[in-house]
Amino acid sequence: MGIDTLKLKNVSEQDQKMIRDIETMMGPEPEAMGFAKNLFWGRFRNDLVSSYPVVSKEEKAKCDALLTELEAYLKNEHPAMEIDRDQEIPEWVVKRLFDMGVMGMTVPEEYGGLGLGITSYNRVLEMIGAHCGSTGVMVSAHQSIGCKAIMLFGSEEQKTRFLPGVAREYLSAFCLSEPQVGSDAAGQETTCVLSEDGSHYILNGEKKWSTSGALSGMYTVMANQMLVDPKTGKERKKITALICTPDMDGIEIFESNRSKTGIRGTWQARLRFTNVRVPRENLLHKEGRGLHVALTCLNFGRCTLSAGITGAAKYAADQSTKWVRTRHQFGRPLSDFELVQQRIARMHAITYAMDALLFMMTGMLDRGDEDIMVETAMTKVFCSQLGWETIDDAMEIMGGEGYMTENELERTWRDNRIHRIVEGSNEVMQPFIFGYGGKQLAEQMMTVQQALTWDSDESFGANVGRILSNAVRPRVMGRAIPLAMQLFAGYRPSAPKVTVANTELRGHAARLERLVRDHAHWFKMASKWYKEEIVTRQAVQARLGDSAMYLFVLAASLSRFDRTLTEQSGNVERDRAFFNHAFDLFEKRILSLFRELRVNADDTMFAAADAGMARADALPNADFYIHESSPTDAGTGKPVRTDIVPQFPGMKRDMPNGDGAGSAADVADTKPELEVG
Ligand SMILES: Cc1cc2nc3c(=O)[nH]c(=O)nc-3n(C[C@H](O)[C@H](O)[C@H](O)COP(=O)(O)OP(=O)(O)OC[C@H]3O[C@@H](n4cnc5c(N)ncnc54)[C@H](O)[C@@H]3O)c2cc1C
Repeated sequence: MGIDTLKLKNVSEQDQKMIRDIETMMGPEPEAMGFAKNLFWGRFRNDLVSSYPVVSKEEKAKCDALLTELEAYLKNEHPAMEIDRDQEIPEWVVKRLFDMGVMGMTVPEEYGGLGLGITSYNRVLEMIGAHCGSTGVMVSAHQSIGCKAIMLFGSEEQKTRFLPGVAREYLSAFCLSEPQVGSDAAGQETTCVLSEDGSHYILNGEKKWSTSGALSGMYTVMANQMLVDPKTGKERKKITALICTPDMDGIEIFESNRSKTGIRGTWQARLRFTNVRVPRENLLHKEGRGLHVALTCLNFGRCTLSAGITGAAKYAADQSTKWVRTRHQFGRPLSDFELVQQRIARMHAITYAMDALLFMMTGMLDRGDEDIMVETAMTKVFCSQLGWETIDDAMEIMGGEGYMTENELERTWRDNRIHRIVEGSNEVMQPFIFGYGGKQLAEQMMTVQQALTWDSDESFGANVGRILSNAVRPRVMGRAIPLAMQLFAGYRPSAPKVTVANTELRGHAARLERLVRDHAHWFKMASKWYKEEIVTRQAVQARLGDSAMYLFVLAASLSRFDRTLTEQSGNVERDRAFFNHAFDLFEKRILSLFRELRVNADDTMFAAADAGMARADALPNADFYIHESSPTDAGTGKPVRTDIVPQFPGMKRDMPNGDGAGSAADVADTKPELEVG
């Protein structure tokens, strides 16, 4: 039974609809619960994490060779500072990356790519991220989301038609966001209708923020389609994914890019689709499965985003540590001061954990694990948040010089702020981790609760009848008794077993075991305290979602260091110091999240938020920026200064034709001039 079919009292119809939409969007549950979901039950799946993933020797050698070539290029030729200053990645850079094989590295060899796996791909993205945020995002937008759907869901004909091009010749773009569609990806306003003769779809709508959209040879476009629901026989809006190409009549790129804080070399386009005839053979996967296509691609995007910021955070840690070792104040290096050392320790420990988590995740993807959506969300939230905190620490200890453009750290700082917002903002991901991670357990608890508790909306007789009949059902009572013992008698079940190969890590494993048991305990207690209200209590959800995320981080770090000890590889003593500190840091965070469930400032928070909103409501709209498509106040805000901020007008792109026309190099011919004033 899904939460949608259970009775949710005290939850508004709007919130219930949101839950139903999410359930439909997520599709059927995978057969077996993955690592993260099991944490909510207080279980630890050693089979999924205890042996830290490694790639084959052949794959590693192939990727190492690519990394050697790439590193030489990035260090000696790549114009990272110019890209940021000029707000453009030169076409020779794009062409160079295509020639090296980077742009098609995950495309199978038979279609012209390098055929490398997800782990290798993320090693490359980590290296690019350390040098240039813009280039990292451009590569990731192309390969993780732009054309990934063809690799995953494309027909043989689609693969043959498009993959050689995206591997060697032209960029691709992912078109999900719209003026009205940001975090609420299911609310697509772009529509597609199958023509009467069934030969093509007619596509209408507008897409916003499509990275490299103005420079691409193909787009993956999501649109709403009215389809008959086989269960009800009624028509329902469902999302369908289509492949479009820039030569199709009716596609207009009316804005190529906008100026922004960081990743300034990337270009985000606005596209308009007017009665575009998309051949039926360009349907990706199945009609109505577009959101599944999009969310599956985002699993990969969330990893490469994490790889980019992990590389950037490692660079920031090294750069700033070098700085404080050599900058002297008060007659000694800055690194002599304890508060500086605290930051050095934190930066290196956090990047150790980011790396461990990222490559645990990519190993799961390479292995083909099915139930990984909660894990990729955790990886994204952890790396984007902790990576940002690390780069900010680096900025702090470099002092005023860290803020200066030529020392480059400020670009890293600007470039990496975006990751908390895109590909599912962290505030959307935290409730998702809680809700989707703990869903099955919550459903079971609610079923038991609804079976056995008094419902004031029901008659006396109905209540007594239901409770008595359920009380004699072994299935219900088998679940209810242990649950009641935990919720009302303070009983905690035994902790799960965490296996490690090296006995010296037994203490860490035991700490992790207790934390997993306690996480499940607090999840149940919070469900008892808040009942159905928990569905809307995001602050509570975020605490439990974060604690599960940190448990995954601890598990990945433990597994990584366990392998290091076994293999005696790399610098064991250095890794030991980073691992020990990371373990301490995140254990403390988990414990304080448990405490915050009971001791927090939520009560005053609601009043302060109301007061803040009342203050904003009293201020005139005309003094502030208002979203262009606000359903209530569009057009009433402060006008944007297009005369000061450089503008990137629209452009017409030709379809690449395989003989070099429209290839990455030729894109420059059609690029618009940047306009100021
Ligand atoms: C540089 C850049 C590149 C991009 N590239 C692409 C691309 O290639 N393809 C594409 O389709 N899109 C792309 N996007 C769009 C991106 O995915 C969206 O910006 C993102 O999904 C957030 O949507 P929004 O900006 O409209 O924020 P909104 O939906 O308006 O949300 C604003 C903030 O409100 C909060 N919030 C929203 N919903 C909730 C909630 N339910 N609970 C709690 N808090 C909430 C969050 O803090 C969120 O950050 C890009 C955007 C940028 C800036």
